[in-house]
Parts: sequence; C-alpha cells; structure tokens
Amino acid sequence: MAKVFVIKKNFEEGIKKAYNLLSNKLSDKPIAIKLHFGERGNTTYIQPELVKALVNEIKQEKILTDANVLYRGSRTDTSSHKQIALEHGFDFAPVKIADEKGEISIEINKKHFKTIKVGSLLQEYENIIVFSHFKGHSTAGFGGALKNLGMGFGSRSGKLAMHANISPFIDTNICILCNNCKENCPANAIQTINNKNIINKNKCIGCAKCIAVCPKKAVKIPWGSATEKQLQERIVEYCYGILKDRNLIYFNVLLNITKRCDCVGSSMKQIIDDIGILASGDIVAIDQASLDLVNKQTGKQTFQDIHGVSGIDQLIYAEKLGLGTRKYELIKI
Ligand code: SF4
Ligand code: SF4
Repeated sequence: MAKVFVIKKNFEEGIKKAYNLLSNKLSDKPIAIKLHFGERGNTTYIQPELVKALVNEIKQEKILTDANVLYRGSRTDTSSHKQIALEHGFDFAPVKIADEKGEISIEINKKHFKTIKVGSLLQEYENIIVFSHFKGHSTAGFGGALKNLGMGFGSRSGKLAMHANISPFIDTNICILCNNCKENCPANAIQTINNKNIINKNKCIGCAKCIAVCPKKAVKIPWGSATEKQLQERIVEYCYGILKDRNLIYFNVLLNITKRCDCVGSSMKQIIDDIGILASGDIVAIDQASLDLVNKQTGKQTFQDIHGVSGIDQLIYAEKLGLGTRKYELIKI
C-alpha cells in the first residue's frame, strides 16, 4: 500500500514538509520540476507560489520544465513557451523547455510502442518532481501525474503518436499555399496537386513539424483517431519509459479543478470546492487518490459524467505495467 500525503491548509508549509518526507527517493544530482505553465488566457493553472515554496526547499540545482505542445498556441515553440512561463509568474528558477534541443528515443517494447520519443532534456536529469494540476480532460478523463509526465514530456512527434492513429491533414479551405509546411517537412510528404497542398500519408513520418509552422492552423491533428483507451494506455507507456532509471516524486494540486485542462486558453469555472494538495512517491496511488477524492466530494463519477470518460484506464494499465499501486493510505500532514 502506497503512502499519499494530504495537505489541507498552509499549502506552502505543507509542500515543504512533504518534500522532506519524500526527498530520500531522489539523489543529490540536479532536479527537473515538470510543470504545465498554462496556456495564455488560462487562469486556473498552478499558482507559482506553490512551486516557489518547493524550489526554496530544494538544496541542489533545480530547473522548471515542460515540453512544447502539438497544437498552435503560446507554448508551441521554445521562445514563446519560456515567455508565457515568465508572464505566468514562474520567474524564480531557470526554465528549460524539454525538447528545445530536440528529442531522444527510449526503447520500451510495449503493446502500443516499441520506442517512445521524449524531450532530450531527460538525458540530463535523473531526478524529476512531477508537479501537476489535477483537473478534467476530454479524452483522458482526467489529467494528473500520469498525464503530466507521459504526455507532458513527449516531443511533438511523440505527442502526435499518442493522440492519433493517422497522419495530420490539411484543410484546403483554410490553406493559403504559403508552403511553410512543405519546406519544413523532413519526409517530403507534402505535395501540391491541382493547386492544393496534400499530405501523403504513405510518406509522412508523423514528426508534426507542419502543424507547428502553419500560420493559418490549416494542418489539422486527427484528434479522434485514437480511442480514449488507446490514448490513456499510450500516455502510460510514455511514463513507463521515463520512469525507467529515474527517481521521481509527485505533487497533485487539487485546487481550481476545472472540466478541461490548462491548455485551454480562456478562463474556466472551478467545478468543485478546493480539496488540497497530495504528495506521494507513487504515481499510480497519487492519481487514484486524487480521482477518489474528487468523486467522493461530488458523490458521482465526476469526469465520466462530464466527458463520458472516467480516466480509469490509465490507472489500470499503469498498475499492470508495474508503475505503482492503486491501493493507498491517506496521511494528513
Ligand atoms: S507530420 Fe512531419 S512528415 Fe508528416 S507531413 Fe507533417 S512535416 Fe511532413
Ligand atoms: S503552412 Fe499551412 S497555409 Fe501554408 S501551405 Fe502549409 S497548410 Fe497551407
């Protein structure tokens, strides 16, 4: 049974206490704190003061990090991603974007993936603190530590591989034939036929560069092509690869819980009263405990009711792959 520490008030003091209870899992090497800095316009991302309390308690070198996203937004490229981190108050430690120097592959040989593609920054860090905002997500059911780690460290091609079973496609009604996508495609997969740019799915290697460089958002991500269960299991396989040979601890912030994730670039309503902050050395236990506490407060299967997806598949598969246990004890600190 895994221990999950619960902080109900005095959050900054509680975070420091939890870190000191868990830090024996980490070595004395530098630490990467995995965050989501919030899309521009979002107002319910993690409050920077909470992360600052943790940063101040860590003795060794530390950085704040996230990888660039798949879709077009303020976190699509490294410079604007760093800019939004600063704008949102994450200015108290160096910010490094996990894939700013490219991606690496990690062999896992699992059901969905033989290898995973993640930001190359992971090569430099054996200690990771996954600091996640727990909230709903339209296809994963909920986003907690598993999603922040697995999807969050995926490179752009890794994220596309988790989300989609097929290549991106071009909406020719929006495309202005600027050819940015064509010039940046490493596989020469974009062809102009009858004055229309089209992606040849037989040539496409799924690198997702065309999505990032299109000024008109005309390159579309086939979001619905992977089932909810596939998406969740793929996220878990990414976690499996990242967890290998690394030391990790987890914080889940159950404050400002919204229906959808912090990638939404607008203000969203909080759907339930604040619960608190959880901390654990077990990625499965902390997400299971977070989900149970949300459901206990609402008295129903909260995210199943909202999105038609409970998110339970990620927990079942993560336990099956040996990432942790769904059995936990809550310990108030
Ligand atoms: S995803 Fe990559 S390989 Fe495929 S069309 Fe776009 S740029 Fe080319
Ligand atoms: S980058 Fe976008 S607008 Fe330009 S040619 Fe490609 S799809 Fe069309």
